[in-house]
Amino acid sequence: MSHDCLFCKIAHHEIPAKVVFEDDEFIAFHDINPAAPVHLLLVPKHHVGSLADIGTNDGAWLARMMQLVPRLAFENGANPLPAGGFRMVANAGLEGGQEVDHLHFHILGGARPWNKRAAPAA
Ligand code: AMP
Ligand code: ZN
Repeated sequence: MSHDCLFCKIAHHEIPAKVVFEDDEFIAFHDINPAAPVHLLLVPKHHVGSLADIGTNDGAWLARMMQLVPRLAFENGANPLPAGGFRMVANAGLEGGQEVDHLHFHILGGARPWNKRAAPAA
């Protein structure tokens, strides 16, 4: 754990968050400043700076993390395919838009009126 890291602190319950999922390896919680009706952050509990730090030994847990993405999206309000769906975003580095230096997947979903290809909200 990095003692200066916001998401390490959330993963260790030192800072509160609206947690929607947790197991030994990962924690997922609502983004404090949501950019969509569903906006979760999925975080590994061990400190990893970003996708740029992933190595050849990281494939197994990274696959487990990615398998959680559709499950968490649909369990937390993303609408079913094909009309619904979700978006996963991982920012890395300053020019990549990363503000918190602990790997996280943004999971975004829900009706967005500005998306011309999306079905109208029910
Ligand atoms: P990124 O720009 O990819 O590093 O995303 C960081 C995200 O963390 C932003 O969307 C923030 O709104 C979110 N965030 C920052 N602090 C918190 C917090 N305490 N709890 C939940 N989300 C947070
Ligand atoms: Zn961390």
